[in-house]
Amino acid sequence: MRPARALINLQALRHNYLLAQRLCSGKALAVVKADAYGHGAVACAHALHDLADGFAVACLEEALELRAAGVTLPILLLEGFFEASELEQIVAHDLSCVIHAPWQLEVIEQASLTQPVALWLKMDSGMHRVGFSPDEYRAVWQRLQASNNVASIVLMTHLARADELDSTQTQVQYQTFLSATAGIQAPTSVCNSPALLAWPGVRSDWSRPGIILYGSQPVAMPAGTTEKLRPVMTLQSKVIALRDLPAGEPVGYGAHFVTSRPTRVGIVALGYADGYPRHAPTGTPVAVDGQLTQLLGRVSMDMLAVDLTDISTAAVGSTVELWGEQVSIDEVAARAGTISYQLLCNVKRVHYEYLAV
Ligand SMILES: *Cc1c(COP(=O)(O)O)cnc(C)c1O
Repeated sequence: MRPARALINLQALRHNYLLAQRLCSGKALAVVKADAYGHGAVACAHALHDLADGFAVACLEEALELRAAGVTLPILLLEGFFEASELEQIVAHDLSCVIHAPWQLEVIEQASLTQPVALWLKMDSGMHRVGFSPDEYRAVWQRLQASNNVASIVLMTHLARADELDSTQTQVQYQTFLSATAGIQAPTSVCNSPALLAWPGVRSDWSRPGIILYGSQPVAMPAGTTEKLRPVMTLQSKVIALRDLPAGEPVGYGAHFVTSRPTRVGIVALGYADGYPRHAPTGTPVAVDGQLTQLLGRVSMDMLAVDLTDISTAAVGSTVELWGEQVSIDEVAARAGTISYQLLCNVKRVHYEYLAV
């Protein structure tokens, strides 16, 4: 079997969820959209079932996968429904649903449902992606309140720049949300992962942590926190070939890397078709047999090259960690000009192994 694999540490996931819950001073929906950011939504939801206040996914299809796997906790659809015909399934499976657009409001008002639906009414407080404007928000809430098709309403918004400590936009969005909802008696939902870490003054009844559950850290931990997030995924493979090259020899496509000294090169069975970023440059950290070293040259579809010159134990069969306990996914993402979210979501083809709870 090809040795490329993703080890998923479900105990670390539970640890991170509990940490997120402590930070949020309310309830926390574990965001498991996009197959739990590439970790396997069903396995992650099962691992969190006795801890979590509920789950959030992008769409009905993702929620139905969880329900089919026996997940009975509340599940929120973060993009709501895409067509009117989904509404009946949403109530049939006891799902909660974001409403963000006028056409959805009309569908809800005109539907004849077997049961009323639990809604999360989204405000566009400044991200300008989806949601009702602060000006129209109260009127939409009143129409939903008056509808027999609505069981409950949570007031929600989403922050665009909570990972930027020097931006004022988070406070501006939060104040916009608070003043546009003033006096409405309903639970609120504002915080994503970076808000939980970086903005202790921004809190709500329901938080929606995603990336921190998986152990990546979009901003520094709050001052005074001794607890750490633990990486959930370790992406690893093995050295399948060695080359001892003199100075001046090219390695890989495009001869992007040329040895500047006698170099032992290890070829690793993992490439961009497995989700490793093709744009990771020479120098991106990897760990071989537990020792840090670096990527060399261009990443290929199925293979990549690493520097083994200073790693005396390295041989064919040596384990190579691309990210995980030793190599921070956040650092790999920064080197490749992207974010951990994208790296995690892109993992595919590798063999998944779950370390049980
Ligand atoms: C994905 C998502 C989240 C989770 O964001 P993180 O940065 O991963 O914590 C929260 N809220 C909404 C609306 C989302 O779409």
